[in-house]
Amino acid sequence: MPGPLKVQAIVLRSIRYGEADRILHLYTVTHGRLSAIAKGARRSRSRFGARLEPFMHVRALLHEGRSDLLTVTGVDTVAVHPVLREHAATLDAAARACDAVGRLFETTDPHPEVFRLLANELALLNDDPAQARTANGLAFRLKLLLAAGIVPQLAACALCGEADHLSGFSGAAGGVVCNSCEAAAFALEEDAYHFLVGALGAPLARAPEAPPRALRQAERAITDIAEYHAHVRLRPLLAA
Ligand SMILES: [Zn+2]
Repeated sequence: MPGPLKVQAIVLRSIRYGEADRILHLYTVTHGRLSAIAKGARRSRSRFGARLEPFMHVRALLHEGRSDLLTVTGVDTVAVHPVLREHAATLDAAARACDAVGRLFETTDPHPEVFRLLANELALLNDDPAQARTANGLAFRLKLLLAAGIVPQLAACALCGEADHLSGFSGAAGGVVCNSCEAAAFALEEDAYHFLVGALGAPLARAPEAPPRALRQAERAITDIAEYHAHVRLRPLLAA
């Protein structure tokens, strides 16, 4: 990356470093996930002010330094999401969303649709804190998997193609399985099945509600498929 890099980014994480610096994990529109150091960012009179907090949407200028880390030389705020910062539930949901993006998309390959999805999710949590619910968190993860090219097979048995008697879900097989193939699967009940189909098809803000038992099964399906097909372990959303 020669010369300074102008990026639009969301701050996924901000880690204290040394005396007064911060190391930032950024998810950018054009360069996927980048790490950069903001020197002096923790000094009270830092030129960065409070513009490099997690979940902020910024325009940043990055320079190549002597190390692998890029250096932040300028920042403008695009969206601060002030309401999101006032509630423990929305902060937690935002942190989990950023964590999932960082784990599933950890290279500099650009995925502008992932950036948009994350920007939408953060804006949604800010505009409507009631969205900090499990169904929304699971729908966000499903859409992330879709962006990673991992689409759970939901229309027919992932092993034999049978369209009826779908009664289980197998992360290894990549989707739902019928009752003659379910040896390596766990039971996926109708409510959970409809949640997965509904959450994939609906906008994030309208992720369908489902009973806790169905959400637990849906979470297991999403977690298993991320593990088998992206080799990524997602942080649990629901207590076991
Ligand atoms: Zn089958």
